[in-house]
Amino acid sequence: MEKNLVLRVALPTPLRRLFEYLPPPGTLDFSPLPGIRVSVPFGNRKLVGFIIDIANRSEIPSNRLKHIEHFIDKKPVIPEDMIKLYQWSAHYYQHPIGEVYSTALPAPLRRGEIELRRKEIYYHLTTLDNDLAHENLKRAPRQLEIVRLVTKHPEGVSHHTIKALGLQGAPLKSVIDKGWLEAKSFTNQPQHKNSKSVLAEAPLTLSEEQQLAVNSVTQSLEQFTCFLLEGVTGSGKTEVYLQVIEQVLRKRGSVLVLVPEIGLTPQTVNRFKQRFNAPIALLHSGRSDKERMHDWMAAAEEECYIVIGTRSSIFTPINNLGVIIVDEEHDLSFKQQDGMRYSARDLGVIRAHHTGIPIVLGSATPSLESLHNCTSGRYQHLQLSTRAGGASQPKLLLTDIRSRPLQGGLSQPLIDAISKQLDAGHQVLIFINQRGFAPVLMCHQCNWIAQCSRCDTRLTLHLNPTQLRCHHCGAQRSAPRNCPDCHAVELKTLGVGTECSEQTIAQLFPGFPVLRIDRDSTSSKTAMKNMLAQINSGTPCVMVGTQMLAKGHHFPKVTLVAILEADYGLFSADFRGLERMGQLITQVSGRAGREDKPGEVIIQTHQPDHPMLNKLIKEGYSSYACNLLKEREIGQLPPYCHAVLFRAESVQHHHPGEFLEEVKDIAESLAVHQQPSAVEIFGPIQATMYKRAGRFRSQLLLQSTDRKTLHELLTRLCLEIEKLKSARKVRWSIDVDPLDCF
Ligand code: ADP
Ligand code: ZN
Ligand code: ZN
Repeated sequence: MEKNLVLRVALPTPLRRLFEYLPPPGTLDFSPLPGIRVSVPFGNRKLVGFIIDIANRSEIPSNRLKHIEHFIDKKPVIPEDMIKLYQWSAHYYQHPIGEVYSTALPAPLRRGEIELRRKEIYYHLTTLDNDLAHENLKRAPRQLEIVRLVTKHPEGVSHHTIKALGLQGAPLKSVIDKGWLEAKSFTNQPQHKNSKSVLAEAPLTLSEEQQLAVNSVTQSLEQFTCFLLEGVTGSGKTEVYLQVIEQVLRKRGSVLVLVPEIGLTPQTVNRFKQRFNAPIALLHSGRSDKERMHDWMAAAEEECYIVIGTRSSIFTPINNLGVIIVDEEHDLSFKQQDGMRYSARDLGVIRAHHTGIPIVLGSATPSLESLHNCTSGRYQHLQLSTRAGGASQPKLLLTDIRSRPLQGGLSQPLIDAISKQLDAGHQVLIFINQRGFAPVLMCHQCNWIAQCSRCDTRLTLHLNPTQLRCHHCGAQRSAPRNCPDCHAVELKTLGVGTECSEQTIAQLFPGFPVLRIDRDSTSSKTAMKNMLAQINSGTPCVMVGTQMLAKGHHFPKVTLVAILEADYGLFSADFRGLERMGQLITQVSGRAGREDKPGEVIIQTHQPDHPMLNKLIKEGYSSYACNLLKEREIGQLPPYCHAVLFRAESVQHHHPGEFLEEVKDIAESLAVHQQPSAVEIFGPIQATMYKRAGRFRSQLLLQSTDRKTLHELLTRLCLEIEKLKSARKVRWSIDVDPLDCF
């Protein structure tokens, strides 16, 4: 090792910098590399860090630099392209580099553990005459089953598989003892290269538009291009992904598929499993640290690997990555809402760019950002305008509920429509944007309303058990029988939630099952599984649910979809309200009539003449979104400008404002050196929900049409903020490209 080496290390601290160390004394024969973990002294603690950079000298005199305690790894555990992506994220999201590592990496890696991959035992046949075994095992059917299974898989059968089939234990032991099976342990799944075709089932014959989309992507497999695949619901976007992936696997490349949090349904995963003979890693929060770690290492080392995961899987190193796919790219769950507030979709585009590969962003309702990138020529727009397999688009109908009495939120025309569909043996899906029984509990005598004591918001009434719950801080308390203020005996509810409609529908249609699907009813995994099984069995039923029902599901028997209250988006305080409303209505509607039977959608509204609502219903999302983009351009709102939001909160109501005033002063003084008004500063103002979970919240908005100017300012600003005393009295955060301003 060269003398005078200085190692720049990322450490889990909130400071926006790397830390410099000297190599441990007496390690002259070892060449450190970026991506190797080290154990270092830090204050009076020991921390695990990652070498990011190696230099020949330091600004700090070497007698003041400390030595690394020891190297944890012999070779890098993080490949160079990932180091580059993490660096990029730290800079773009203005997040401390050490904390980027904490966000990106599985826990065992961060803790400095050395056993990162599980070993798995694989069973192979010994070179024994098979017929003999079959003959000998006639009266031991379970042993015979094992031998047959292993005969079919010359590459070996894992212990995991044997266990899944219930063949472990005595039968397994017998065949091993008889010498017919041998066990070997591997960290990588042994593969018989070239012996297996990539495909496990035949692909579908593509429509012309699908073929065009697949061709466009596969023609640029070795270069960066960002495609926006805009396909109406049920148009067969997934089939396009599958056939693109097939081409990548044929070249022994791997793929990364990002899906929304609730997109990781068994339905989706099965389509990938059924199509390909390739290992699939599923990365989501439900897996244990060890499992995640194992898949992470496997993806980094193996070929032909399919990684399907939610937001954080964007940080997984993948060997020979050939394409990135982001399904439902408009979905909000791709944006992390605390810590490092990154967008996995946007990082996907950066990663594809760094790697020199294509990325496909798919959606029936693309975000205005992505549509804007198509008009400006940065993305290539691919469209699927019709549903696959001959299904027709559902008919949308507005129902005026201004002067109609409602039962559990349902108008008479809707009740009649449900009745007709159930009698015909079909399924019905009802969307409500509110879980619980009712969003308001109040007293008609004195106008008392049940409020959360820790948040500026109302409490929601829930049944079973009857309780008031805050949907913002999670507070729960029992619902009072009498008004706490005037002691009136009768409290009334206002508005309806899923539990209320569920009750009404069960009373109206006693012969049919009602399945409520929201966060409360699906907290156990088996509950959701059982309900999906019931829906897929095709028996007539009514589903009542929130967003969870809106996304990705393919329910072939649903012929009627109802949206109980379409209006909330029309009056949202957020400038993105209309975009969200259009996406939600379109996605929910898209669950209707996905196979041979035509679908119908009833949208209840108090605003039947609202021009935007009518545009959406009559012309569809594309044309609606085009209008919204024009409005954003006139208002110079994102995506026509770039925004950064500083948030601060504290239990002391004056601290956030004071801190943000100081931030504003520094930002203004820094901005003086830039071209006039290149960065506009708005605020500080109190957040829409000022008090939340007992903390007072304020925010400061920075905006600019020039991304580079804005980022230069931010980088300097953040280093100054770290020094502020007032910064220590608040929790503060930076949100680059914020998606909501609350
Ligand atoms: P999307 O993801 O666009 O909503 P899906 O990929 O789920 O749509 O496709 C909807 C249905 O159409 C699925 O059942 C799928 O198997 C079927 N499908 C897709 N492409 C074709 C095709 N080319 N021919 C026949 N059926 C298709
Ligand atoms: Zn009262
Ligand atoms: Zn609360």
